[in-house]
Amino acid sequence: MSDVTKLTAAELGRKLAAKEVSAVEVATAHLDRIAAVEGKVHAFLHVDRDGALAAAKAVDDQRAKGAELGPLAGVPIGVKDVITTKGVPTTAGSKILEGWRPPYDATITSRLREAGLVMLGKTNMDEFAMGSSTEYSAYGPTYNPWDTTRIPGGSGGGSAAAVAAYEAPLAIGTDTGGSIRQPAAVTGTVGAKPTYGGTSRYGLIAFSSSLDTPGPCARTVEDAALLHAVIGGHDPRDSTSIPQPVPDVVGAARLGATGDLSGVRLGLVREFSGEGAEPGVAAAYRESVDALVKLGAEVVEVSCPSFKFALPAYYLIAPSECSSNLARFDGVRYGLRTGDDGRRSLEEVMSLTRDAGFGPEVKRRIILGTYALSAGYYDAYYGQAQKVRTLITRDFQAAFEAADVLVAPTTPFVAFPLGSRTSDPYQMYLADLFTIPSNLYGGPAISVPAGLSEGLPVGLQIMAPTMADDRMYRVAAALESAIPPLTPPAL
Ligand code: GLN
Repeated sequence: MSDVTKLTAAELGRKLAAKEVSAVEVATAHLDRIAAVEGKVHAFLHVDRDGALAAAKAVDDQRAKGAELGPLAGVPIGVKDVITTKGVPTTAGSKILEGWRPPYDATITSRLREAGLVMLGKTNMDEFAMGSSTEYSAYGPTYNPWDTTRIPGGSGGGSAAAVAAYEAPLAIGTDTGGSIRQPAAVTGTVGAKPTYGGTSRYGLIAFSSSLDTPGPCARTVEDAALLHAVIGGHDPRDSTSIPQPVPDVVGAARLGATGDLSGVRLGLVREFSGEGAEPGVAAAYRESVDALVKLGAEVVEVSCPSFKFALPAYYLIAPSECSSNLARFDGVRYGLRTGDDGRRSLEEVMSLTRDAGFGPEVKRRIILGTYALSAGYYDAYYGQAQKVRTLITRDFQAAFEAADVLVAPTTPFVAFPLGSRTSDPYQMYLADLFTIPSNLYGGPAISVPAGLSEGLPVGLQIMAPTMADDRMYRVAAALESAIPPLTPPAL
């Protein structure tokens, strides 16, 4: 039998349906791959071998009985550790949740289970999804399969690295400011942030609730779309979930793969077309735009003057929301409790627990956010940032009058060496320069491999209007059909 870990999710789904391979065999091959490479990659915080084999066997049993199963039934998946999984440890990369086993499944998790996906385990991440390199995980970093001295991106570096290293064909990520797309770009994989509200936040441990968006990580655009279709759609348990069906993302990906983009207007964002990106990234960006033009796309230049304020606005809004969301980690209800010796007051125990349980980046953001929301400063900081958010939305709306999708590099630089940005938070924040605008607006955006710079992967970002997720998949699949696939060196 060929190495099933190298197959795409779509191919695996077809082989499983044709009974050429069993779900237990597929799960076992991926668990073996995990065992073989985790020492070098550390993509997982928890591997659920028994749970995965039991889920795989259940799919095989159903199939043996002749049940109609979905296209991803029996396909393995990694789930970012910020998504609750009933009975399976969920830490959000933080010591404060060490050992916590959630009593319930997130909507994303239940949809995966219902569709027969086989969860291999929970993937590593920056603590509470705050970071751009996975170095802020309380459990140690993940290493980029392309070069294990470099970061895999963040915060969802574990999900992207697991997919790039053939430990799983698919993974779930969450994108608040770029945490699906930026890791995808630097690991040579595909990562999509759906429209905000297009995927449920129920059971997602909240970072910045007005921005948090779960989405798919994969090695191909079609695989990302197949997973998007499984997890997306209205959820009555999430008050910001959009009560509309998922756009036909799978059909759009297949249409795009035919390589015809005639009639598609590609908006090049003037403010993002080179400036701020290192030369190799800018070159790969220009080459991928040329490739899209060869497929029939028409290029228009658009200007989004408020995008330059996106990063500072984000770093007020996200910390403000997190300072409120993270108040629930008080040592009383979940996970860690420190200093509860029967003599200390409740406040002292809370304070000692939070001091011991949160890492430096999380503390920095809680302090910043609490300050920005305080009575005397609210209008000057949080209020201003919300106004900028409106301006950014208007920039997008105006740009989408002239263009069907907007394109930009996903990241300003390729994967950087571990440790090179941890001492300067601002340098770390810059990694999301190009991804943050679409979070503030709420529209979908995808990163798709766009070639190499100095031997390391570069991503092209495609942004679309809200609920036009299908459009970005079409363009992404077209680019994928036009450029050679990126394969990381053997580990
Ligand atoms: N890197 C950004 C941050 O640290 C984005 C994180 C994310 O999307 N979860 O906030």
